[in-house]
Amino acid sequence: MIDFSDRVALVTGAGRGLGASHARLLASRGAAVVVNDPGVATDGTASEARPADEITAEIKEAGGAAVADYGSVSNPQEAEAMVQRAIEEFGRIDIVVNNAGILRDKAFHNLEWPNLEAVLDVHLKGAFYVTQPAFRHMREQSYGRIVMTSSNSGLLGNFGQANYGAAKMGLVGLMNVLALEGVKYDIKVNSVAPVAHTRMTEDILGPIAEKLEPSQVSPVVVYLCSERCAVTGEVYSAAGGVVSRMFIGLTPGWFKHPDKEGALTPEDIEAHLDEIRDEEGYIVPASNQDELQKLAPLLFS
Ligand code: NAD
Repeated sequence: MIDFSDRVALVTGAGRGLGASHARLLASRGAAVVVNDPGVATDGTASEARPADEITAEIKEAGGAAVADYGSVSNPQEAEAMVQRAIEEFGRIDIVVNNAGILRDKAFHNLEWPNLEAVLDVHLKGAFYVTQPAFRHMREQSYGRIVMTSSNSGLLGNFGQANYGAAKMGLVGLMNVLALEGVKYDIKVNSVAPVAHTRMTEDILGPIAEKLEPSQVSPVVVYLCSERCAVTGEVYSAAGGVVSRMFIGLTPGWFKHPDKEGALTPEDIEAHLDEIRDEEGYIVPASNQDELQKLAPLLFS
């Protein structure tokens, strides 16, 4: 059994939807959980709701350990306070699930800057604000697990979600760097790209919604949060029980040796586009060093 006894987790946006499901599963496996959620509307505007209280009570009733937190991830002080809450209440922090999210969809030509800022603030900057104080503790204790919640809207694209898609792909960039910086300290950083029926997707999934329970995403997140997690710097798509890895690949490409064949021209690109794009034999680099290693033998040949 994957077990979280003596482990402490912070799940942001855990009052509803996917976050609530992750918090429940972590707690049922023995983790003490900080259930963070200010209870905002889907567009991030304030409301009177206190869903963090409901999930915290539910976890406690089931015999688990949890504490509610109402801070906003987009406020650096409140983000730091949620990490501090984990330490004050439960003595440490081992796991951060960056899950809080809002939507402000607009076709790009109609996107107003406040709707860009609000979305970047919660998804992308919020993950920086929450993860940095936790990462410092994780380095000191030489252990940590961090999960980013990305989205196929960024990884693959979705009409009307320029702000959201950019924020969600930004999280993949943050993950890539933190995965490398965390290696020495047994800090593993991965991402999930979920598809689930929540209030956020209420109007867009259609009849397939009933097949896409949030509880079918949480096992992926919980595995990535576990001591037994064997991967870092990777993105997993999770939807209705289907789990896949998504990645960025580098094709073998085409090389024109500048010393032997002359300088590269735009016409060369046009002429060799099929070879450049050919996916046969692609690699999945784990860092930019892997790309440099591929280049060096060619450039020095
Ligand atoms: P949801 O609206 O049910 O839950 C999101 C929660 O985040 C809400 O309870 C909300 O109060 C909270 N939140 C919003 N702003 C916050 C802030 N500043 N600080 C802390 N909490 C805040 O939606 P969901 O579908 O469960 O989404 C969870 C995450 O999964 C989001 O990051 C979302 O972008 C991502 N996601 C969801 C899907 C999907 O299919 N549902 C797909 C891809 C990505």
